[in-house]
Amino acid sequence: MAGIETLFTNAKLADGTLNDIGVAGGRIVSIAPAGSAANAAKNVDIAGALLVPAFVEGHIHLDTSFFGDKWVPHKACTNGFDVHERVAFQAENMAQAAPMAERARKQLELCVGHGSLHMRSHVMVDASVGLKSLETILAIREEYLGIIDIQLVAFPQSGILKSPGTADLLDEAIAMGADLVGGLDPASFDRDLQGHLDVVFGVAEKRGVGVDIHLHDFGSLGVFTVEEICARTVALGMQGRVAISHAYGLGNLDADGARHIGAKIAAAGVSIMTNAPGDHAFPPVALLRAEGVNVFAGSDNIRDSWWPYGDGDMLGRAMMIGYRSGFYTDEELSAAFDVVTSASAKALCLEGYGIAIGAKADFVTLDAEHVPEAVVAVPKGRRVFKGGRLVAENGTVIR
Ligand SMILES: [Zn+2]
Repeated sequence: MAGIETLFTNAKLADGTLNDIGVAGGRIVSIAPAGSAANAAKNVDIAGALLVPAFVEGHIHLDTSFFGDKWVPHKACTNGFDVHERVAFQAENMAQAAPMAERARKQLELCVGHGSLHMRSHVMVDASVGLKSLETILAIREEYLGIIDIQLVAFPQSGILKSPGTADLLDEAIAMGADLVGGLDPASFDRDLQGHLDVVFGVAEKRGVGVDIHLHDFGSLGVFTVEEICARTVALGMQGRVAISHAYGLGNLDADGARHIGAKIAAAGVSIMTNAPGDHAFPPVALLRAEGVNVFAGSDNIRDSWWPYGDGDMLGRAMMIGYRSGFYTDEELSAAFDVVTSASAKALCLEGYGIAIGAKADFVTLDAEHVPEAVVAVPKGRRVFKGGRLVAENGTVIR
């Protein structure tokens, strides 16, 4: 076909067929049965490997990870999980850490090496750090243009009402280039659910940006907060542009209760992010999907002051989500894969995502028979292409 710059030959798609994929101008312009396309200026042999859309890292913290820095031993909370105490530990650790830009680069390259080419990172914006972290991460985002697309959430890690000046800083953060407004446990952290949401949705409405709120609260407080976020989303016509990260409170409801709140979340077009955390209740992925809720995923913390785990591999995250959700059938394993690919792309409102004509040529090769096998085997040895250009191979970023 005329106009093809690079032809990716013998690529196995999720439906099991072998295809030649033509790319021009960074987009997929043709998909034809293997061997049927004429040679292009440049051919790349995929050699029968599975070719899937690049992973979407839907929730990470580029500013606070110690990945690639010295090992920082985890300090346990003195009396059960306490967000305030963890924030204090984080401040102590950050004072000793390597420069933020160095750490952020290492974490980004870890993610790209595994095949994530789209990312949403929360970045601390509050009275403790002001806009300094955001300035650093904005510069890093520039550095990695053409390798990974990064959305930044202005994240009030120290609360909004408890950290005077933060409301104005969040607004300034959006003016500087942050893409979304964040929030943190409006009721349990700031002790003022409506006051906190007034600021978050106020900035979002004024600046015309989306919202992504960390919500760790369990029980009825967690559910009530989810309901209030959904109500505000609908009131402002922000369906599709609001996410709740963690929403642990959805994880210990009975099935009827979960379906009831699930229907409300689906109707409000609010996405729910989970990382299937260790010994924690977490949202019932299959039940919520059945209710029409968009459930997406992220690594969240990677070797930081919150926990020592995390490797930036969203395929491994799909495995964890499937493992913790009791997913065994091919359909269930494919659902876990959808969570880290298409569902995350939907939550991030990505344009041109997927393996389809017209989509961006952002894809990953996997040594697997099909998607369900890839989820359980988490194969290494991947090739990662951004706009049809090789950007990582075997975990190493290529510039
Ligand atoms: Zn987080």
